[in-house]
Amino acid sequence: MGSIFSDRITDVPKSFIREILKVTNEKDIISFAGGLPNRKLFPVEELKKATLKVFENEGRDALQYNTSEGDLGLRKWIVERYSKNQNIDITPENIIITTGSQQGLDLLGKTILNENDNLIIEEPGYLGAIQAFSLYRPRFHPVPVNENGMNLEVLKQVIENNRVKLCYTVPNFQNPSGITYTDENREQVANIIGNTDTILIEDNPYGDLRFKGSAKKSFFTFMPKNTVLLGSFSKTIVPSFRIGWLVADESLIEKLIIAKQASDLHTNYFCQKVICHFLEDADIDAHIRKITESYGKQRDSMVQAIRKYFPDSVQFTQPEGGMFLWVSLPAHISAIDLFHKAVAEKIAFVPGDPFYINKTNVNTLRLNYSCVDEETIEKGIRIMGKVLQDFI
Ligand code: PMP
Repeated sequence: MGSIFSDRITDVPKSFIREILKVTNEKDIISFAGGLPNRKLFPVEELKKATLKVFENEGRDALQYNTSEGDLGLRKWIVERYSKNQNIDITPENIIITTGSQQGLDLLGKTILNENDNLIIEEPGYLGAIQAFSLYRPRFHPVPVNENGMNLEVLKQVIENNRVKLCYTVPNFQNPSGITYTDENREQVANIIGNTDTILIEDNPYGDLRFKGSAKKSFFTFMPKNTVLLGSFSKTIVPSFRIGWLVADESLIEKLIIAKQASDLHTNYFCQKVICHFLEDADIDAHIRKITESYGKQRDSMVQAIRKYFPDSVQFTQPEGGMFLWVSLPAHISAIDLFHKAVAEKIAFVPGDPFYINKTNVNTLRLNYSCVDEETIEKGIRIMGKVLQDFI
């Protein structure tokens, strides 16, 4: 007898990060491996108040089943925010509340991809997206990104030679690399994609976490018909509520609602209401400023420590927001080999391998700075620098 498991699930590797986090959760490890927001910045008191208000104001309604597209008040708040902050004009009918933006990825895969359909993904790219889409068994076309954004030549070639259904991007403070696409690059990407029927996914969980520089234009402003936006409260409020959203035109929303009903009927309604009260009573922008002030300082101390302790032959990105930076080692060094030596010295990070579609033993790695204080960042990077010297 063959395996009881579907081919679909057998083909998808376990989340490499979860495997790594098992090693790195030990107490005395300095971990730059996680991808978590800093728990010290969770607005606990405000959420406590908002929760009580849900019981007092909504009562049993907040405990009942609700609509698949999500709370109307919350969708209206999202509409206004897009209008105010990004000059994007949508209506609540363009939005579904999702169980984290991660569910947005799954619903898009379920709704759009048949087996062997073509999908473009940034390289390096968010491994949670690789995992979510892999279940629908598409043909992945990685397109390299650098400090300016997507490699336009490669993008053009893939688009010209294939019918591409989806193009996945994280244009602001990308996970894993921390890079942000320039406005010029966005415009050029839009010129290539805008007159095809490819849907570009702008996954933007970090966009609000800018601590330097100026905001860039959304792909939506260049090609509203071809763009789907994903957003999330995971990095700006808390991740455990699992509240995110998806913006698309109404014909796509209609299909996505069918996919959502099959998955979970609707996103946790109680938590949607808690978020609504939080947004009503607390100052989310002041809260976000608190987060960016902290992450900005943590990022600065990581950049300074890298300059001081890493060999000159090592390159790294200097993000203007978000939670990660990306390190490129000299070509002959495997980041996995470095990882094993570093863990022996109680330092952890994520080797680049899981962020690529078909590459192993790469010379790149991701460092997270949001969860480590400045002093510990300096210490961890100093030790990592010492371990690195043995490889040079
Ligand atoms: N997209 C990207 C690029 C991410 O980094 C993450 C979280 N690590 C997600 C989506 C998923 O976020 P959530 O489901 O919590 O909204």
